[in-house]
Amino acid sequence: MKIALIAHDKKKQSLINFSLAYKNILEQNDLFATGTTGKKISEATGLKIHRFLSGPLGGDQQIGAKIATNEMDLIFFIRDPLTAQPHEPDILALMRLCDVHNIPLATNIGTAELLIKGLARGDLSWREVIHENGHKK
Ligand code: PGA
Repeated sequence: MKIALIAHDKKKQSLINFSLAYKNILEQNDLFATGTTGKKISEATGLKIHRFLSGPLGGDQQIGAKIATNEMDLIFFIRDPLTAQPHEPDILALMRLCDVHNIPLATNIGTAELLIKGLARGDLSWREVIHENGHKK
């Protein structure tokens, strides 16, 4: 599965802790992240992560583009709801594309725990069927 990891600054430590806790599951997948999130998680966990640009510089849009072409299967986007973000339009666009394409999206650690456990027990295998059926554009 192709998994994207994104966290706003005040939530980065939460996503690092999450990545450490579930490293054994995450490492079995192809991991992607926005620039700073990816750097911090790979430094803390040793996970191999493809890094896009930093979120405010276009990283969210790069991940959004992958969602639009069915090249992302699961998104962990741990948002900070208490701090204004300069790239709010990009954030909304990314979430919108998840809804357009039915891509599972966790915006807080509570949901992230459920999704990663679901991933581990095969609940997302329908994504592989979609890929096999050639829905990738
Ligand atoms: P960052 O971007 O990982 O480069 O900090 C995340 C974001 O704020 O969207």
